[in-house]
Amino acid sequence: MQYKAYDWIEPAINTIRRADWYRSVQAISGKPGAVVELEGKEVVNFASNDYLGLAGDDRLIKSAIAATIELGTGSTGSRLLSGHRELHRQLECAIASLKQTEDALVFSSGYLANIGAISAIVGKRDLILADTYNHSCLKNGAVLSGATVIDYPHKNVEVLDNLLSQQRANFRRCLIITDSVFSMDGDLCPLPKLSDLAQQFNCMLLIDEAHATGVFGATGAGCAEHFGVANSHLIQVGTLSKALGSLGGFVAGSKLLIDFLRNRAASWIYTTALSPAATAAALSAITIIHAEPQRRQQLWANVAHLKQQLPLPIIDSHSSIICCQYSSASLAMEAASKLKNAGIFAPAIRPPTVPTSRIRFSVMATHQHEHIEKLIAALQDIKTV
Ligand SMILES: *Cc1c(COP(=O)(O)O)cnc(C)c1O
Repeated sequence: MQYKAYDWIEPAINTIRRADWYRSVQAISGKPGAVVELEGKEVVNFASNDYLGLAGDDRLIKSAIAATIELGTGSTGSRLLSGHRELHRQLECAIASLKQTEDALVFSSGYLANIGAISAIVGKRDLILADTYNHSCLKNGAVLSGATVIDYPHKNVEVLDNLLSQQRANFRRCLIITDSVFSMDGDLCPLPKLSDLAQQFNCMLLIDEAHATGVFGATGAGCAEHFGVANSHLIQVGTLSKALGSLGGFVAGSKLLIDFLRNRAASWIYTTALSPAATAAALSAITIIHAEPQRRQQLWANVAHLKQQLPLPIIDSHSSIICCQYSSASLAMEAASKLKNAGIFAPAIRPPTVPTSRIRFSVMATHQHEHIEKLIAALQDIKTV
């Protein structure tokens, strides 16, 4: 008899293709940077999360190599068993100092940090209120926690206020979760109002600072610093893999919270500690973020330059993520492919990742004036084709 258990896969892929939702990878060669080689062609890179241009920085590379030579390639075990190194603790102290929190805990990725934190601090008797545009790891962390999850419309604090009035009393703990910079639109969460509501209704508030850490605020601490919101009642999650140019994630917060997570966050306890190379590179990035505020200044100058001259309407953005909307996935794909021919690398982001198709441009501190001019010219051309 023929084995048919996997026969559903091919038609499922065909369905994905028909919707223009099919995805595949493209190889970049060489070091990351403002200009990269994409499938043999040199392109200006507007597709990277490396906002400060640190992933290819010699200082990060050297510290990663030095840590590897000293400590080896792998951490060999979980933090609680054989994997913990003094270097991990140094990085956690540096993150806590950047974030101005009592303590921090490093995870193997931002995704695992969110899943681990959310599922550790709420459970079946609790309520999660979540922005509809939240990143996949906040959504999946919420599901994993077993808490009751209610989505509120994107950034809508009136609806959130009403939901809290109606629902808060029915649950033990309550957790509000949101991206601080929304990763696919580039707008910001209404943090001051969220913080007020959290205090008023006795809720915990977790913000995902993946696109804010190192970039927002006078010292690069993130959105809490940018908005001037006291961070003592916040749980801040972030990644080491965007502005910090490495790999890994973290949770920053009170000593008690971090101590609790060390005991209860399954995605921290049951996984191998971050590699020495990734740990050392992130530590080096934080030193640079403190020492070189001009990188942030250049990033924001580049963002202003692009926004001022962009020939297409953009989705409301207050970050280094700038999106041009298209009416269909196929139009967005076509535009991305024309941009690529013009030497510009920027991805089309389509459903189901986002509700509407768009091209997403990520600005970097290391983009030169002429890189941004090139993008503006290319967009002008494809608009008229
Ligand atoms: C990238 C991203 C993450 C995941 O971080 P990784 O370290 O890449 O796992 C989490 N949240 C948001 C909003 C992100 O954009």
